[in-house]
Amino acid sequence: MRQYIIAGNWKMNKTVSESVQLASDIVAAVKDVKKTEVVIAPTYLAAAKVADVIKGSNVKLAIQDIHWKDQGAFTGKVSVDMVKEIGADYIIIGHSEQRQYFHETDETVNLKVKKTLAAGIKVIICIGETLEQRETGVLKEVLGLQIKGALAGVSAEDADKNVVLAYEPVWAIGTGKTATDEQAEEVHAYIRSLIKEIYGEKIAEDMRIQYGGSMKGANAAGLLAQKDIDGGLIGGAGLKADTFKAIIDAA
Ligand code: 13P
Repeated sequence: MRQYIIAGNWKMNKTVSESVQLASDIVAAVKDVKKTEVVIAPTYLAAAKVADVIKGSNVKLAIQDIHWKDQGAFTGKVSVDMVKEIGADYIIIGHSEQRQYFHETDETVNLKVKKTLAAGIKVIICIGETLEQRETGVLKEVLGLQIKGALAGVSAEDADKNVVLAYEPVWAIGTGKTATDEQAEEVHAYIRSLIKEIYGEKIAEDMRIQYGGSMKGANAAGLLAQKDIDGGLIGGAGLKADTFKAIIDAA
């Protein structure tokens, strides 16, 4: 049985003090949640303080991206050792906003994935098509390239235990347009079939695949009831404890 994983990606939202407040609100809201893994991803700036707030709770820490180099002249970046020191459980890699605005490619995704796994931290790898790609019928090709690119050289053991995929159709992010339950399930099942091709049946059955893109309390139950949807990567609705908790309750 795959455990649901609901992760709040705070993106470039919340100051440090607001992040500390939101993290403590979430810790309080989910203290009795057992069946679902709960993860929050604050900004770099707030991450160390948020790590202190969630210590000892059932909330885990994700970091939004890293650089794949160990250290050096990379202005604006942080390394995996830096986030390991503050206790990151996950790193989100390959978000479509990174791909769209900051030159992320399948190759840099792969470098970051390998660096993170080598440091003993888990990855949430984001994949997804644009509206144009969906409408021109290249969805499967795009996802195939993204998945194979991201996982090149990743061991079966890591794939089994330390990789979560997040399917986020770009056209559904922040737009209020969610994929329908059926649309999302069809793609999730396809993604699982690709994992089966690469790693075989067992790992395909074990790997968790989150849906992301305008997920909220009102549509979460339908999406999460689908056979191949194992959680959510949440933007807007993750910025308040009650709207985030409503999604967790739907799982
Ligand atoms: P929204 O939930 O705001 O659409 O964002 C989804 C997302 O990009 C999470 O990473």
